[in-house]
Amino acid sequence: MLYAHHNVGRVNWATKIRDMLYNYGFQYVWSYQHVGNSDNFLSMFKQRVIDCNIQEWHSAIRTCSKLDFYAEIKSLLEPEKYLSTIINKQHRVALSRFRVSSHNLAIESGRAIAIERNDRLCKYCLNERHMSKIENELHMLVYCQLYDNLRTICNVNNYCKSENHVIGYLQSTNCDIICNTSKFIYNAMKRRENYLSKLKQ
Ligand SMILES: [Zn+2]
Repeated sequence: MLYAHHNVGRVNWATKIRDMLYNYGFQYVWSYQHVGNSDNFLSMFKQRVIDCNIQEWHSAIRTCSKLDFYAEIKSLLEPEKYLSTIINKQHRVALSRFRVSSHNLAIESGRAIAIERNDRLCKYCLNERHMSKIENELHMLVYCQLYDNLRTICNVNNYCKSENHVIGYLQSTNCDIICNTSKFIYNAMKRRENYLSKLKQ
C-alpha cells in the first residue's frame, strides 16, 4: 500500500527507502522491487554505507582549513588509542586539543583576528632573533628552542627528529610515546603561557 501511495506522489516511508537506495547506488533494487539474496544485499548495503561515510568524513576534514593538521595525522575513522592510554586527564586533554588545533598557538589565534598565515609568528623566536617561524604544531613539536629541554625530558627528540617524522610520531600506538607526547604538549603549552605572560609585565 505504501508503495502504491508513493507511486501516486504521496511521500511516505517507501519514498525514503527509495531515496536511500538511489543515494547508495542500489537503484536496481527499487526498480525490481527485489533484493535478490537478502544476506548478500544487506552485507553489500552495510559496506556501501560505511564506505560513503568514511569518504564524506575525509572530504569534510580535508576541506576545512582549521583542520589542516588533523587531516594529516588522522587517516582512519576509529577511536584513537591515546584516549584510553593516557591516564592523566590534563595531558590527555592537551594532546586532544593539539591534534584538532584547538589551542592558542599563533597559527590559530592569528586566524581569529585575520592575521595573514605567514605572519602568525612565534614570539619567542622573534624576540630571540631566531629565524622567524610560523608558530604551529610542527614548530612546537620539533623546532622551537623554547622547548628544547622538554623534548629531551619527554623523549620527543628520540622519535620526532624532523618534520618528516611528525605524522608517524602522532599516529604511533606505542604507550610510552603516546604518554610522553601528551606530557610534552601539556608542559610546552604551560611554558609558552608563562613566557608570554612575562612579556606583558
Ligand atoms: Zn619558536
